[in-house]
Amino acid sequence: MSDAPQPSAAEWIERDAAVVWHGFTQMAAYPDNSPVMAVSAEGHHIVDADGERYLDAISSLWVTTLGHRVPELDQALRDQIDRVAHTTMLGNGNTVVVELAEALAPLLPVDDPHLLFASDGAVAVEQALKIAFQYWHNLGVEGRTTYLSFGGAYHGDTIGSMSLGDDGFGVDLYDPLRFGVLRAPGFDREDAVEQACALVEEHASRLAAVVVEPLVQGAAGMQLLPPSSFPQLGDTCRRNDVLLICDEVAVGFGRTGTLFASEQCGLRPDLMAMGKGITGGYLPLAATAASKQVYDAFLGEDLGPRTLYHGHSYGGNALGAAVALEHLRLIERDDVLANVRERGEQFGALLAERVAPLPGVAEVRRQGLMIGVELAPPAAGLRWGRRVSAGCVARGVLIRPLGDVVVVVPHLTTTEDEVELIVDVLVEAIGEVTSSAVQVQLDLSGAAAADGD
Ligand SMILES: *Cc1c(COP(=O)(O)O)cnc(C)c1O
Repeated sequence: MSDAPQPSAAEWIERDAAVVWHGFTQMAAYPDNSPVMAVSAEGHHIVDADGERYLDAISSLWVTTLGHRVPELDQALRDQIDRVAHTTMLGNGNTVVVELAEALAPLLPVDDPHLLFASDGAVAVEQALKIAFQYWHNLGVEGRTTYLSFGGAYHGDTIGSMSLGDDGFGVDLYDPLRFGVLRAPGFDREDAVEQACALVEEHASRLAAVVVEPLVQGAAGMQLLPPSSFPQLGDTCRRNDVLLICDEVAVGFGRTGTLFASEQCGLRPDLMAMGKGITGGYLPLAATAASKQVYDAFLGEDLGPRTLYHGHSYGGNALGAAVALEHLRLIERDDVLANVRERGEQFGALLAERVAPLPGVAEVRRQGLMIGVELAPPAAGLRWGRRVSAGCVARGVLIRPLGDVVVVVPHLTTTEDEVELIVDVLVEAIGEVTSSAVQVQLDLSGAAAADGD
């Protein structure tokens, strides 16, 4: 490296704001909200342009599983790049994608699955929607053109997945484009699944599929229901001949303590969407798994109408597949799921003891290593979620809120010490924001900034 001074994080942020548009971010406020400007990473830490280190306690928005720069994943990527980076999956194949599908198939809670690869979770959901829709058409069944989804649902940002998702975060702006769905209550209601089952019974003849985030509604602020709530959903769908789509984009790949949340829920979906953790957070890869029953309905004459006319340019990228394959091996080799369960319990105990009783905390929700701390601000517009997160970042722990829910999603390989550190920092940051003396000061300094979340 040259001796010339490197640009500071502040300079990078200025350059960034001049040309980059960040998702889910009000750009007018972006530079003032102390964004972390990553340059590199080591294990569980991100290093910014000033050389500051941050513990990545959101796993880079829930995608990084084993940490950054995992030697084996780096090597798998290097090895694959020496073979080929990408070849099309449309009408042709790639050996590493075959190997990945073979490795995944026996692990999926789907009967005799075939995998359709894509690049983003939203598209994995979108593919499941289209497959479910065409499935009935291919069988010659009419009228099954509607989906049932849940209150608080989030399935991605494409128009189809956004139609399934609930309102909020500006989604209702797109109402003229969104198709209607049957909506069951959200997981904040204990009887959400029961209500969903009643709706399935009542409307089965017009339902193509039920779409559910098994166990945890992540973007809803980590709303959860006990695993025992879910088996009846699978039974009801099967009895009424309605397809079940499980969106495992957030909960899949170990996040909740089992490889897939459907396992704990006693669900065997007809279609399952995966994304986020599939490559350990390395590369954009996603997949839709279809059961044999669904898949077989698409078999027919070449170029015929039973064909699924859907596919993306980068679907089944070879680099992503190579990393995903090695990632599966590491999850098994290092018994990562045991760590998720142990560290999850450690979190549970510490949060119950030190965070739940704090004034200003309404509820702590946790499943595996998905954690939501719901704050109870005394008035609207105080931006407690944002402020507590900023307080954590200032203490070297990268956190991002969902409204007034502070979300903690650490790496699946997080350590005992890191769990303690995260809770320490959370307690301090919450205390700082909720103590009234500081409150006045923050109200004055924070009042000017526009706010996206
Ligand atoms: C993140 C997420 C998606 C969308 O995945 P992208 O890769 O961001 O498109 C879909 N469903 C759930 C449950 C998610 O958490």
